Amino acid sequence: MTVDVARLQNTGVAGVTIAWADNSGIPRSRTVPAAAFGDAVRHGVGITPLFAVFDSHDGITFAHDGLPNPSGDIRLIPDSDRVTPLAGQPAFAWVPGRQAGPDGAPWPYDQRTRLEAQVARAAAAGLSVRAGFELEFFVSLSDDGPLGAHDGPAYSPHALLQVDDFAADVLRGLAANGVPAGQFHAEYGPSQLEVSLAPADPVTAADRQLLARQTIHAAARAHGLRVSFAPLVTADGVGNGLHLHVSVSRGSENLLADAGKGVPEGQGASFLGGLVRDLPGIAGVSAPSVPSLLRRRPGYFAGAYRFWGVENREAPLRYVPSSPFLGAGRANVELKASDASGNPYLALAAVLSAGLAGIDDGAPLPPPVQDDPGTWTDAQRTEKGIALLPSTPEEAERALLASPAVAAALGEPLLGAFTAVRRSDAAWAADHTPEETVAAHRWLY
Ligand code: GLU
Ligand code: MG
Repeated sequence: MTVDVARLQNTGVAGVTIAWADNSGIPRSRTVPAAAFGDAVRHGVGITPLFAVFDSHDGITFAHDGLPNPSGDIRLIPDSDRVTPLAGQPAFAWVPGRQAGPDGAPWPYDQRTRLEAQVARAAAAGLSVRAGFELEFFVSLSDDGPLGAHDGPAYSPHALLQVDDFAADVLRGLAANGVPAGQFHAEYGPSQLEVSLAPADPVTAADRQLLARQTIHAAARAHGLRVSFAPLVTADGVGNGLHLHVSVSRGSENLLADAGKGVPEGQGASFLGGLVRDLPGIAGVSAPSVPSLLRRRPGYFAGAYRFWGVENREAPLRYVPSSPFLGAGRANVELKASDASGNPYLALAAVLSAGLAGIDDGAPLPPPVQDDPGTWTDAQRTEKGIALLPSTPEEAERALLASPAVAAALGEPLLGAFTAVRRSDAAWAADHTPEETVAAHRWLY
């Protein structure tokens, strides 16, 4: 499409930031002057392929065979349909980018392209998916350490009042930037807030998750605050999840609707069964960092054990049924093993791949668990076949590689780069205390 550069400039935009998320969920970008944006749309801008092997500490690992040295150049091509002049940064516009080969052809390490492939696979099967993220974040008065900007109480309007101007700019900024929000509240953790985003098609949902973070960071800056989306802000505190809600439909029929029995049936049950089956591998993509593993403790609503439940907030897969009052459209499943260190495109690609595989081969759905298995004895958990999700980087990698659906979602080259990054992060963490590791990730997202 033709980009109206003059119009962009007339609205006061000096630069357009082309953003993507790396394999650790860290937003990366290149900004071009507004006058050069038309050329960027046609030819992309040059970037190094090594962003695929950047670790969480801005180190570059050469342990992946496909990207063994510093040579090469790829193109970062903005999705020109999605240029958004930023309400909170009036001199800038924002646009999601796609990493392409030197000739503009699809590049196997591009996360957004991987998600598009799963969306196309769903479409070929006559299915469409809707998705939306919830963003939890910590609001800090200080850049140096986490210094809470509100002291609760949890869910209280009086907590929000302590960050009133900032909260208003979050809502205004999201609306102005075309990111429809659902709800906004003071969350359970100290100085924690949460905003949920309205459901959209998967690629839009992932784009909006990135844009929402940019918007919230800008609103915080405008009020002398800083926000952390990190899985943990302190090693012993409440975590920040970026829970992911997903539903799957055939035409206008939501397959996850419960048909009156409170649990999904037929292909909806198989979709959820596929998610349960591949959950350890999915979590290795949607919550992949060392702090993700530290966050996943029993009793924190962060989904420590492998099971699903109906409206069970301790479950990593929380099924939200439809109801006569709210209609069939409401039914969805929430993945709680999802946080800001998960690339949103890859997290969704892994979820779609696992769910669609479940439909393809009629994956069985085990019975729901309504309790918190963390309160059970080891013997009770063994009897019900419920184990912890991976809690070490080694277990997480094994689970990832053992999941054909998740491995296929990433594809061989990207899977190799992704696991190399995880190993590089794990090696860093092995030389540091959990507190140091959490601190090193605090402001990355
Ligand atoms: N803060 C929790 C987490 O780490 C989630 C709390 C909730 O259920 O909203 O995911
Ligand atoms: Mg929450």
